[in-house]
Amino acid sequence: MNTVNSIVWFRQDLRLEDNPALEAAISIGLVLPVYILDDKSADEWKMGSVSRWWLHHSLTALNQSLNGGLHVFKGNPSEILKRLIKEKNIQKLFWNRCYEPWRITRDKLLEHDIEKLGIDIKSFNGSLLWEPWDVAKSDGTPYKVFTPFYKKSSAMMPLQNLKPNNLASLKLISCAQTNNKINHLELLPKYNWHGSIEKKWCPGETGSHQALRKFLIKNIEQYKVGRDYPALNAVSRISPHLHFGELSPKRVWSEVLEASQNRKIEPQVEHFQRELAWREFSYSLLYHFPSLTTRNLNQRFDIFPWKKNPDSLEKWQRGQTGFPLIDAGMRELWQTGYMHNRVRMIVASFLVKNLLIHWETGAHWFWDCLVDADLAANSCSWQWVAGCGVDAAPYFRIFNPVIQSQKFDANADYIKTYVPELKNCPVKYIHDPSSAPKDKLRNVGIKLGIDYPKAIVDLKLTRKESLDAYNKMRTSF
Ligand SMILES: Cc1cc2nc3c(=O)[nH]c(=O)nc-3n(C[C@H](O)[C@H](O)[C@H](O)COP(=O)(O)OP(=O)(O)OC[C@H]3O[C@@H](n4cnc5c(N)ncnc54)[C@H](O)[C@@H]3O)c2cc1C
Repeated sequence: MNTVNSIVWFRQDLRLEDNPALEAAISIGLVLPVYILDDKSADEWKMGSVSRWWLHHSLTALNQSLNGGLHVFKGNPSEILKRLIKEKNIQKLFWNRCYEPWRITRDKLLEHDIEKLGIDIKSFNGSLLWEPWDVAKSDGTPYKVFTPFYKKSSAMMPLQNLKPNNLASLKLISCAQTNNKINHLELLPKYNWHGSIEKKWCPGETGSHQALRKFLIKNIEQYKVGRDYPALNAVSRISPHLHFGELSPKRVWSEVLEASQNRKIEPQVEHFQRELAWREFSYSLLYHFPSLTTRNLNQRFDIFPWKKNPDSLEKWQRGQTGFPLIDAGMRELWQTGYMHNRVRMIVASFLVKNLLIHWETGAHWFWDCLVDADLAANSCSWQWVAGCGVDAAPYFRIFNPVIQSQKFDANADYIKTYVPELKNCPVKYIHDPSSAPKDKLRNVGIKLGIDYPKAIVDLKLTRKESLDAYNKMRTSF
């Protein structure tokens, strides 16, 4: 039987298992696995610093799984692929689909360009449970509200166990490229700010399986309620693995169902599946409303009087706002590349509603700092918090960081982890040190404004200012 030479173009699917593009290529012949860093097409949304750190390690892990057979390039994918097609006598090109607007535009042009060479191109769904165009309302328009989206999508296709893979038959096309080609992408930072991030994570397919297993063995048991408490180990922390495609959502879904057998954890499983579906909903919104990344979905917000406020912005970024829960979250982000979901909502609300700084400014900071920076989830979540997205939190829902802290970090365990200068502060005052009697802080050696900042805003006043601005905007239509 004649074998076919194929390129598998790895993108957001840095794994071997449950990878439909790779499986298709293996089933017909020899495979040339390729990764191309394409900052130029990504433009404003080229990967942030922390994502680049992750990518370096994820590519290294993938290369090891391929016994050094991954071919890594930087530049224009169309030119690079055309060159490889000629050099390696390639007949087919396979990839798993991506949904970022810049990638869709690029891929369409590239497809046109490469098909002219007589190459057969096939793309697959390797990143989502449900394709965005498959989940539509009865009139064919996309859903803008999560619950009906979820009802429709989860009823559409009962997800079953994954098929066994054909990796044992994988045969690579040889190509003279040294293993350290990944270093040439220069993804790692020039100076060492990433030591604490490195300790927290294990990028790559194996690390992704470990993270999922750890969650399913124990932590899932308290997911439904525990997921709101940042000091608890109750969430999965698989978001960067999902983002880079080291883990497929289908695999996660199927393993969660398997792990739930003979355990009374249905409410936890259902809630977890709902969160996975929020990821799908974000992708559906990004696909149908590509301006989601830079434009208010609710265009009434186009006249909202945002402020620049660079001094407050810097304090927010550095975790120096004088609100310990906000500061803990922003420092968690800086030190680990991650922030707990509840805290993400609270710090975002503070930026947008107490400091009146545009949500895009916050989204860009997250983009640079998160290990799981994801154009769909990040843009959608920021618009949700700001109140200008679809199915968004009502604008008047302004999180009070002190009340949230008392409720979700009552013993201040999370705060003390990331704001150690407050570790001796009595729990009664730790959620809002600026309103504590001075002697209570002095007694434990804390001078406000010296050891820890005074609150940078008055929560009541800024809440009122924000609601006034919102009401003015509303009534001007
Ligand atoms: C302002 C803001 C910005 C955010 N930016 C991102 C981002 O860039 N990348 C990102 O993956 N998530 C983002 N989120 C969503 C959410 O905070 C993270 O997905 C979650 O904290 C990741 O941790 P986990 O894997 O432990 O989540 P779990 O609670 O264990 O959930 C499992 C998975 O479900 C998905 N998920 C959970 N919540 C959401 C959500 N609200 N929206 C979309 N998907 C969700 C994620 O893929 C997650 O890994 C953002 C949320 C906010 C409020």
